[in-house]
Amino acid sequence: MAHFEVVDHRLQQARFQPSPNHGERPAGTAIDLLVIHNISLPPGQFGGDCIERFFLNQLDAHEHPFFAEISDLQVSAHLLVDRCGQVVQFVPFDRRAWHAGRSCFQGRDECNDFSIGIELEGTDETPYTDAQYEALAGISRALMRAYPALSPEGIVGHCDIAPGRKSDPGPAFDWARFSALLAQA
Ligand SMILES: [Zn+2]
Repeated sequence: MAHFEVVDHRLQQARFQPSPNHGERPAGTAIDLLVIHNISLPPGQFGGDCIERFFLNQLDAHEHPFFAEISDLQVSAHLLVDRCGQVVQFVPFDRRAWHAGRSCFQGRDECNDFSIGIELEGTDETPYTDAQYEALAGISRALMRAYPALSPEGIVGHCDIAPGRKSDPGPAFDWARFSALLAQA
């Protein structure tokens, strides 16, 4: 499994593309939740730089009909893992990224306050790639080392914290496979 390491709230193996879409976490907040998402832009298409530009507020509304709906949104995730397992970081982990929206985990609202958000390039129905599972497991282990309040029980899907509103990472995400990879030393 590829080795990942977090230093000063940055994943050393990621390309850093700083997004303006972030804020302060509430003082004293421990990071104890990891939220897995999916995204593809245009929907169902992989490759290209549209996701990156979306998180940098640089998406052109005229480029695609769907972009007109979303180009004004200001959102972000900490990380994006593309279909090849390459990783881009948009927000340092000690900052609050804007990925979860209205959400609740074990009675606590505003999951962005205490979570890290990782986007997998994909759709709910398309199998994720081997490279994505390997990268996600390695990244998760690095995050658990860097943020000791984070444990495997705190790794959830967006669907789990925004049920009825969000479906990602979808039925295509193999939680058993991910858990087995995560458990490997
Ligand atoms: Zn999501």
